[in-house]
This record gives sequence, C-alpha cells and structure tokens, in this order.
Amino acid sequence: MIGWDSELDRVLGAKTAKALDGAFGISTVGDLLRHYPRRYAERGELTPIGGLEIGEHATVLARVERVDKRRMRSRRGTILQARITDGTRSLSCTFFNQAWRERELSPGKRGMFAGKVTAYRGELQLAHPEYQLFSADEDSDEQGAARNFAGALIPVYPAAQGIPSWSVGRCVAQVLDGWEGVRDPLPESLRQRVGVVSLEEALRLVHRPDNLTQVNQARRRLKWDEAFGVQLALAQSRQRQGTRPAPPCPRRGGGLAEAFEAELPFTLTEGQREVGERIAEDLSGERPMNRLVQGEVGSGKTVVALRAMLQVVDAGRQAVMLAPTEVLAAQHARSLRELLGRFGRAGELGAAERATRVCLLTGSLPAARRKQALLDAASGAAGIVVGTHALLQDGVSFAGLGLVVVDEQHRFGVEQRDALRERAGERSCPHLLVMTATPIPRTVAMTVFGDLRTSALRELPRGRAPISTTVVPSAEKPSWLERAWQRVREEVAEGHQVYVVCSRVGDESGETSSTETGELHVVPERGESGQRTPVSVLDLAEWLRRGPLEGLRLGVLHGRLPSEDKDAVMRCFADGETDVLVATTVVEVGVDVPNATMMMIMDADRFGMSQLHQLRGRVGRGDSPGLCLLVSAAMPQSPARNRLDAVASTTDGFELARLDLQQRREGDVLGAAQSGRSSTLRMLSLVHDEELIATARAEAEEFVELDPELREHPGLAAMVTELVDEDRADFLEKA
Ligand code: ADP
Ligand code: MG
Repeated sequence: MIGWDSELDRVLGAKTAKALDGAFGISTVGDLLRHYPRRYAERGELTPIGGLEIGEHATVLARVERVDKRRMRSRRGTILQARITDGTRSLSCTFFNQAWRERELSPGKRGMFAGKVTAYRGELQLAHPEYQLFSADEDSDEQGAARNFAGALIPVYPAAQGIPSWSVGRCVAQVLDGWEGVRDPLPESLRQRVGVVSLEEALRLVHRPDNLTQVNQARRRLKWDEAFGVQLALAQSRQRQGTRPAPPCPRRGGGLAEAFEAELPFTLTEGQREVGERIAEDLSGERPMNRLVQGEVGSGKTVVALRAMLQVVDAGRQAVMLAPTEVLAAQHARSLRELLGRFGRAGELGAAERATRVCLLTGSLPAARRKQALLDAASGAAGIVVGTHALLQDGVSFAGLGLVVVDEQHRFGVEQRDALRERAGERSCPHLLVMTATPIPRTVAMTVFGDLRTSALRELPRGRAPISTTVVPSAEKPSWLERAWQRVREEVAEGHQVYVVCSRVGDESGETSSTETGELHVVPERGESGQRTPVSVLDLAEWLRRGPLEGLRLGVLHGRLPSEDKDAVMRCFADGETDVLVATTVVEVGVDVPNATMMMIMDADRFGMSQLHQLRGRVGRGDSPGLCLLVSAAMPQSPARNRLDAVASTTDGFELARLDLQQRREGDVLGAAQSGRSSTLRMLSLVHDEELIATARAEAEEFVELDPELREHPGLAAMVTELVDEDRADFLEKA
C-alpha cells in the first residue's frame, strides 16, 4: 500500500522521482498529492492563445492547423514547424531534426502542447514543446496519459521543462490508484459544522474531478485546512503571549487623562470615543493589549494614542511612541507637546499640577540632550518617550514601561512585535497599540496580523475639507500639465502651500541631468523599452525654479538628506517659510501641515493605490479644500491608468486597499509564503476567501481556548507543526 509518507522513488521509480524532485522539490506521496492542478481544461475547449504571456511555461489545448518541413540553410538537417490554433489565433511549434513528427501532427488533430512561450519576429512560439495528442478514437483507453484525458475535466498542473502537465497527471494517477488514504485531522463534528468533505476525498477529487462541483468541494476543504492551520497557529501564539502579564493600567478618576480631556479644544469624534473606550478597557487588564487602530490620514489617531498614554501615566507607568523616521518622531514629539499644553511641561514654569514630560530620543540628538533624555526615561521623569524603532534596540531603559505605541507601521509581523516587547519589557509585557493610515483589508488583518484586535476610525473630524483628485494625462494633454503649474502659483498666491511628489531623488551616479539643456522632459519621451525614466526631485526642483515656479520659495526634501537637514526643511515648510515642497514619499506618513492645500504627484502610476491615497491625505488637513493632481503618461484604459482613475474616483481608503490587494499578486502580500513550493497557502485567497478565514479564526479560537496545546487533537497539532516549521519565517516574519 502507498502511504502519505512513502518515498516516490519506491512508488514511481528512481528516474521519475528524481525528475519530480529536481523540478518541484517533490519527494513523497504527500508532496505529490499537494501539488494541486492549477486549473482544469474542459474536454472540448481550446486554450485562448491570445492570453498567453511571453516567458511563461504554458500548457495549451489546441488543434494542429498545418505542418511545414524545410531544410536548414546553414546546417544539415530539417526544421519542422507546426502551427497550432485555438480557432482564432495561432502559435508555432518548432522542432529540429524531428521530421518523423510530421506523421503524428496531422492537421485537425487536437492535443495538449506544453513549453515556454517565446516571441520570434513578432510571432508567438512554443520553444521545444512537448505534446500529447488526443487519439482520434477517444474511447480507446490507452495506458497512462490517455486515461487522464478520459474524464470530462483535464487537470492542468504547474509544469516544468521536461515534466509536462500530463506527466505529472500520470504520476498522480498512479499514486492514487494504490493509495491507502489518509487519516483526517479534522474532527468529524467540525467537518460537519463547516460543511467540508474528508481530506482523502478532497485530495482524490482535486486531482480527478468529474465536474466543477467536485472541484469546488475539494478546493473548499483544502482551503479550509490552510485557513484553519494558520489561525490555530496564531491563536496559540496569542495564548502563549497571555501568559506573561501586562501591567494593569485602569482608568483613574482625577488623573491627568481626565484633566487633559476637560481642556481639549475640540470634541472627540464618535469613532475616537469608541476606540478610546476599547483601548481603555484593554489597558486596565493583565492581558497585554494588542490593538491595531486604522484610520484615514487626518482621522485623529494621535489624540487616541495620547489618551491611552495618559491613562498609562496615571497608573504610574511610562509610554513609548515609535515612529518610522526621525522626522516623524520629532514631529510627534512636537504635536504631543502642543496637544498636552501645560500638562506636558512637568518641571517647567506654568506646568499643570499633575503634568508629565514628553521627551524625544533619537540618534541625531546632540550628546548632552541625549544624555538628559536617557536619564528622563530611566528615572521615570518622562512619562512619554518618543523615538524611532531603533530606540528599543539601543537598550534604552525605562523606570516602568506600560505601553508601546507604534505609529504608521503596518509592515509589522507577529514576531517583530514579540521581539519588540522582549526588549521593551522586563518581566511584564507592555501593552501594544499600533496605528496605521494604510487600511488593511480584513482578511490580511486576520491572517497576517491574526493576533491583533483591530478597530477603525472611519470618520474624519468635522469641518475637514474634502480632497478632490484629478488625473493629468501628460502624454495626451500636455497643456493640462502647464495649467497645473499655473494652478500651483494660484494656490500659493492665495497664501497656501503645495507639495510636488516624485518617485525618485535623482542625481544618481552616471546619470546626466536633463536640466543641463535647460529643458526638462516632463512630457514623456518613450525610450526603446517604452518606459521613460520618471522625473526626479532634484531635476524637477531645478527646472521649476527656473521655469514655471520662478520666484516661489521652493524646498527640497528626500531620504538622502542628513536627518538634521530633513528636519530643517520640514520645519520651514511647516512654518510657512517655503511655498512649494518638492519631495519624495518621505512626506508620506504623518506629516501635518494644515496650510498645504495642493499636491501634485509626478509619474503617479509608479505608486500603489494605497500609497497614493495616503499621500494625498497630506493635503486638505485645514479648512480649505484639498486638490490632488495625479500626473501620468499612462495611456487611457491601461491597467496603470485604470488604477489612477480608481484613486481619483473614490476617497474610501478601505476600498482602495481592497483593490490594491486584488491587483497585487497575493504572494506580495504574504511574502514568499504564497509563491514558493513549500508554501502554506497554496489555495487560500486573501481576496476571495474572507468568509472562510473568519470562520476558521472563530473555530481556532475555541479549540485553543479549550485545549491550548491541542493534545486532544493530535491531527490538528500536526497540521500546525507542519505549517509553522515550513513557513515560520515567511508567514510570521515577512508580514
Ligand atoms: P492622523 O490620524 O493622520 O494621525 P492626526 O492625529 O494628526 O491625524 O490629526 C489630524 C488633525 O486633526 C490634528 O491637527 C488634530 O489635532 C486634529 N483633530 C483630531 N481629532 C479632532 C477632533 N475630534 N476634532 C477636530 N480636530 C481634531
Ligand atoms: Mg498620525
């Protein structure tokens, strides 16, 4: 009998086993059965040739159209060229010195052809194709491959050179025939509740379905296992974390938090209030808080964080706020101090009675100030410490850390968070609050950030002006771009400020500046590759200074500036001393200049939809309406242009994040976890399987609650072990 762990060389022979191992890393029966068909071809169907992509290894169902044979000119031998067709377009298959194939490939025959798609003189080709023809008399059940074609649905497997789909199919068929089956790791009751077939049935059906209903049954079960495995792993990680208690920081009447709120110059939005309640509850418990607050740019996340920090300070603990860059850390420290007013000036003249102190701790501080800041953190004099992520790595010590707030950092997996806490906490584990303006689709939040509770701020504080967004198609309508620069001048004339964002810094070594000719090709010139180099901050600033924006005060900001310079440039802009800031995406996160009302994003197609959304959130932060212009040479109806149109047509960041996720390959979302062969999530789609993931999460939570180590369910425990061993790095870290 053939078992799950049987080595393939014993089942299929050494040669075949070696080929499978070399091509796909498949060595056991289990590996092979997990090599799922990528899709299914229907018996009568022909594969649309127009849909093939150059460079892909394709399996095509087609009909032989005609065959030509000729002698090679330079060498001895023959070239045989077979044209195969889907009825509309055709593809040529070339064979060298294999004239005998002429007899096989007679016009009218149908079959599967596999090979790498290439283009030669404008024609699509299959290089060194392999093929398997359907026999004219399709009932004559020949051995092996032919039997594969007997079903109504032909599985099409991920294939490789030398191992076409049908060879994989033949191996699978051989294994399935003698397979003893496998024990189902899912308890029967759960299977019934969720409505999935057994694992054995799913595996048999996925490889040899009679119809699409069976395919769907099989897929549902296999997806379920993936979703459930991940959720079990996450639930266990949550459970384990709960074992190191957090310092409880309950609300205290008559404390700093209360006093601060009484003097807030605005009323909190309903969302801020609700999320605040949740956080306040979380903080008062011994179980470490793990919360992600998502909110549009300008939705007022800082106040939410500050209230949480004050509750912690009231409880006699300290809070740390981490930002991704020094510029942002400095800005946070400033705005926290501003918001706090006299409540944040402990030790200074005019401080409130219970005041605390906000201290900024970054690498670029002058030595004396840094020393003071370190002292304030260690002694507990500073209730709130603001810094970059490096802060915790540098071994800064605290008198008693109760809360870590991480701002604008969504690329933050479970393990990083654990590590962060490891460094931050002594014996206890501080509470954690993560804030992000990049909305994270629910499925991603549940899968990648499975142990984070999420809450959202969906409304903007009242009185915030709307942002309107327009695409400026610089290739078709160059005059619009000229008009846009004029618009910048008008905006400045009204006393407002403007951002101009580029995708690159410029002045890379070896590159000649196009401003040397006194002219900048802001209107695209297509190079041979059809791609022009995007305009850079340095070139554009220079050109604007001498051209359309002559006489305006221009600032230049990018990541290559030393951090003091960045700070200075940002401060000039914040203070209204510059009119126009030409910058890279360093302005992306957290920057708050209410007087900036317009943003032009050059080569906007270079950015992702969520990123554009986040960028434009920099404007319209004050009372005047914001304007965002997306400049792009992308052609109408091109995918790039469609994305820009989508950004222009909605201000719903959650919707854009969802579209963004759909557009990206899922592999990019989960790092290598989706793409590699040892991938955990082969079938599960974060875009399409939201409901399944949610159910899996709820079920996993219950199982782990009752039986943390899954002792009663060795099958499930094994599922988790397999998954965590295989993909730990990928799925837990690369998030
Ligand atoms: P973000 O969520 O982008 O971090 P901020 O916290 O920086 O947003 O808030 C943006 C601006 O809105 C700040 O100037 C802040 O003081 C202000 N703000 C926050 N909450 C409210 C509110 N409820 N009403 C009015 N203004 C608010
Ligand atoms: Mg912010």
